[in-house]
Amino acid sequence: MQRLTEQFIDNHWLPSRGKRSLAVTDPYRQKQIAEVTAGDPDVEEAAVAAARRALPAWQALGGERRAAYLEAFAEALAERREALMRLSATNNGKALAEAGIDLDDAIACYRYYAGQARALEARQGRRVEHGLDGIEARTYEDPAGAVGLITPWNFPLVTSAWKIAPALAAGCTVVFKPSEVTPLPEQAVAEIALAIGLPPGVLNLVHGDGESIGAPLTAHPGIDKLSFTGSNAVGERVMRAAAQGVRGVSLELGGKSPILVLDDAEVEAAADWVMAGIYFNSGQICSATSRLIVHASLAEPLYAALAERIDALRLGDPLADDTDMGPMTSARQRQVVEGYLAIAAEEGLTAVRDARHRELPARGEFVAPTLYRDVPVDSRLWQEEIFGPVLCARSVASEDEAIALANDSAFGLAATVISGDAGRARRVGRALRAGSVWFNSEQLVLPEAGWGGFGISGIGRELGPWGMAGYLEVKHLIGPAG
Ligand code: NAD
Repeated sequence: MQRLTEQFIDNHWLPSRGKRSLAVTDPYRQKQIAEVTAGDPDVEEAAVAAARRALPAWQALGGERRAAYLEAFAEALAERREALMRLSATNNGKALAEAGIDLDDAIACYRYYAGQARALEARQGRRVEHGLDGIEARTYEDPAGAVGLITPWNFPLVTSAWKIAPALAAGCTVVFKPSEVTPLPEQAVAEIALAIGLPPGVLNLVHGDGESIGAPLTAHPGIDKLSFTGSNAVGERVMRAAAQGVRGVSLELGGKSPILVLDDAEVEAAADWVMAGIYFNSGQICSATSRLIVHASLAEPLYAALAERIDALRLGDPLADDTDMGPMTSARQRQVVEGYLAIAAEEGLTAVRDARHRELPARGEFVAPTLYRDVPVDSRLWQEEIFGPVLCARSVASEDEAIALANDSAFGLAATVISGDAGRARRVGRALRAGSVWFNSEQLVLPEAGWGGFGISGIGRELGPWGMAGYLEVKHLIGPAG
């Protein structure tokens, strides 16, 4: 069994003297595959101090040279792609093909921010046009400082890439705390930093859970900015911690995203996009389109097409080529989803497909892919993020009703619109309160486009130029010309 007792600080692997051991599991084989010793206050201090020491030189290096490191990072990830896919599939339980998509996403992200680091250098000192004679004004963008980055377990190496790459491109130094549930693939981040010769202290990785490392990191006065992806409950705590010392915070939180099937949609294609929006990664996706809003005229054929596709999903070993859906990532998450299925039974929801319709694999933290129809809007299943393969559907009589129902949520992360008329789909998409809206498409994610939510789905944006802007402070230099 692998023992991940080491923390990565100042380009050294340091043993943690923390007293608590955290088990790392393979959710398909249901066995422990590694152990992490949670960091302690000394680890925290050392990591923050290393990041602060490294900051001036990393900033002074300039965007062009930082870009070279980011490209080397992408290269190193690409070289390790197959091994990391397997590690991610084993630790997270996601099907191998899905792990491949994750790796490609992470590699593209590091490459994209190499370009952004160069673009940043090129625009430093840009002249500001204004109306005052004899006065010169220029803008500069400086790094926000030493940043604390905290990620969840559903997309290891991806959610971390979305933070680490723009932070390093901006000239920030990093203390990164991955989820204690999936530390194995994330360990590659430190291994790569060492392999590509990243200067000591620029990227530090500390292991542990929220209590041992997460909360102390958010409270540390040496951290200038926090970027957190995870649940709303923890996000609120992170924001409260950031208030101490008025430190910057960006939050990528949960969702309860709608998928709208309008009356002119083609049912078979619509069914494919609905499936991809909820059962991918066993439904453990922040942007899962878990509320299906379908025009009444298409409801029956769409439910029938979905039932057929749900029955055809192959649940099994994440490492097997013919697996469509792996187990939930942890026993805990399986229990969370089962709790919602119990609520569905208590509320008497009508199932198109539920646990009774399928025999689960003999082992693994599986839950059956489910579809409930005519779900009341006050049902907890309609209102709350479940983070599992549970789709709730309602039919509506008009486009206006569909838009109103879609927007009737405190979350606002993502949405999908399906229509036979692309112009109509775009127009409806513009009316939705969500950070990413796909139309007639699966959930494509581009490093060039922004990611993040309206409402309680978060604060700020990742990816695109906005992703790096979150790690920069704008400075104006103004004085007599010449
Ligand atoms: P979580 O909030 O339980 O944990 C996230 C991270 O925070 C982990 O690393 C955890 O150790 C750490 N943490 C826990 N308590 C902490 C504390 N008090 N202070 C600081 N850090 C603490 O979330 P999870 O269960 O790992 O992930 C699932 C959630 O993440 C879902 O709600 C999902 O929607 C959300 N998510 C959002 C996005 C997005 O882009 N919006 C992406 C992926 C996941």
